[in-house]
Amino acid sequence: MARYRESVCRFCRREMTKLFLKGDRCYSDKCSVERRNYPPGQHGQGRPKHTDYGIQLREKQKVKRIYGVLEKQFRNYVGLAERQKGVTGENLLVLLESRLDNMVYRMGFASSRAEARQLVTHGHILVNGRKVDIVSFRIKPGNVIELREKSRTIPSVEESLKTVTRRGVPEWLDVDVANFKGVVKALPTREELPPTIREQLIVEFYSR
Ligand code: SF4
Repeated sequence: MARYRESVCRFCRREMTKLFLKGDRCYSDKCSVERRNYPPGQHGQGRPKHTDYGIQLREKQKVKRIYGVLEKQFRNYVGLAERQKGVTGENLLVLLESRLDNMVYRMGFASSRAEARQLVTHGHILVNGRKVDIVSFRIKPGNVIELREKSRTIPSVEESLKTVTRRGVPEWLDVDVANFKGVVKALPTREELPPTIREQLIVEFYSR
C-alpha cells in the first residue's frame, strides 16, 4: 500500500492548522504548529498567494491528510459522493468518516488515524465478530467494532483509551471501554463533523 513518508508535521505547517496526525504530541508544546506556525520550506515565510484555485487546493489537501487518503482514492470518494443523493460535500465527509480506520480512531482505540490503520492492517480489529484488515472498509450504522481478545493488552491501545477523554468520543458512537468494543449508532450528520472543514471548496476543486 502506498503511503506518505514525509514528516506529517509538515502537512500541518503547510495548512497552518493542527490536523492532529501524531496522537499525544499534538496536545503538547512540542507540536510544530505551535512552535513554527508558517509553511515549511525556503519560501514558507513569504507572502502567500490566495487564488480561488489555491484556496480550493489547500482545502482538498487538508482533508486528504486528515483522513490519510491518497489522491486516487480521494478522487474516487468524490465521484461516489456525487452519485449519492444529497449534498455532495456532506456525502464526501460522511464517506470519509465511515472508513474503518477512522472509526477505530474515533472510538479511542488508537491515538491517531495512522495508528488505527496499523491496528487494522495487522488484523487486530473485528467488525461484527469477523476480522477485517481493510482500512477503507465502509462501516454502516449498527456495526460493532472491537479489538481481538489477544490484542487488548497492546500498550498503545491502553494508552489511547486512557487519553481519549481529551478529544472525546462522538455522540454517534457508543463505546464500551471495559470490553474494548464500540457500536456505530448512526453515521454523523454535518453538524456533528468539524465546522473548520469547507467541503464545498473541495467539490469546486474537482468540478473545474
Ligand atoms: Fe500536526 Fe500533531 Fe505535528 Fe502538531 S504535533 S504539527 S498537530 S501532527
